[in-house]
Amino acid sequence: MEQKFSLWFTEYQTADVKISCRVNKTIHQEKTPFQNLAVIDTVQYGRMLVLDNVIQTTVMDEFVYHEMITHVALNTHAAPRKALVIGGGDGGTVREIVKHRTIEKVVHCEIDGAVIEAARKYLPEISCALSHPAVEIVIDDGIKHVQNNKNTYDIIIVDSTDPVGPAEGLFSAAFYRDIFGALKDDGIFVAQTESPFFNRDLIPRLYRDISGIFPVSRLFLGNVSTYPGGLWTFTMGSKKYDPLEVDVSSIPKMDTRYYSPAIHRTCFVLPPFVEELIKNRDEE
Ligand code: SAM
Repeated sequence: MEQKFSLWFTEYQTADVKISCRVNKTIHQEKTPFQNLAVIDTVQYGRMLVLDNVIQTTVMDEFVYHEMITHVALNTHAAPRKALVIGGGDGGTVREIVKHRTIEKVVHCEIDGAVIEAARKYLPEISCALSHPAVEIVIDDGIKHVQNNKNTYDIIIVDSTDPVGPAEGLFSAAFYRDIFGALKDDGIFVAQTESPFFNRDLIPRLYRDISGIFPVSRLFLGNVSTYPGGLWTFTMGSKKYDPLEVDVSSIPKMDTRYYSPAIHRTCFVLPPFVEELIKNRDEE
């Protein structure tokens, strides 16, 4: 039998679980001041952004993550005008935010300018809104940015890497308190909060911190096939609006492939093993 020469990229999702993708070509590789960055072209998922050997996003499945981290919050707010994205250097979250007609300004605060540059060059489908006139790019640590901008934003989205390295502080109660301060009186915050299979200590801690700071806190789910375990959590903290009270029939028609008015409702329906993670947090 003819053996085809093949190259594979492997990520250790945990010490004991790996995901491997057959690679057509390495498009770009560099060591930035913050992390090792690679863009690779894979057979199954198309182009993929990898930071420190961890898959960040792929052209094939990015829409799930970017739509869910954005539209649930923006369609919960009555009229979001000013949004902040922390992290999200690939630009996918910004691309989804500018689909909302009320949006006047998006501040995109990414610590590593090299991620933005690589996304502009090699991931145009994802980064295409980074030059939108409403978007201002700030290369800075998101932690500092929220400390220095009080009472400023309607929406804050934390589209971060995993809780190690420069993103570690983006998963702390002190940071969530600063986010509360950077939001206006009816502001909403949402963050990606990892896998309910593999992060069973982290999620309860984050949920307890967020629900101790925000009057409304909700956890919701999406399915991102390249992330560990597939099923992914997002956690929302809101000063006023409750995503469960949204009249989903009034959500404007949007150009989306995963998020829909029905998903806005069903993403909050949690399987018991996920519900368990956030139950009775106040009683502990
Ligand atoms: N969707 C992705 C995931 O869950 O794997 C996250 C994608 S996005 C590329 C994550 C970005 O967060 C990276 O570009 C990283 O440089 C940025 N980041 C990490 N820590 C940060 C911080 N403290 N302030 C701003 N950006 C940060």
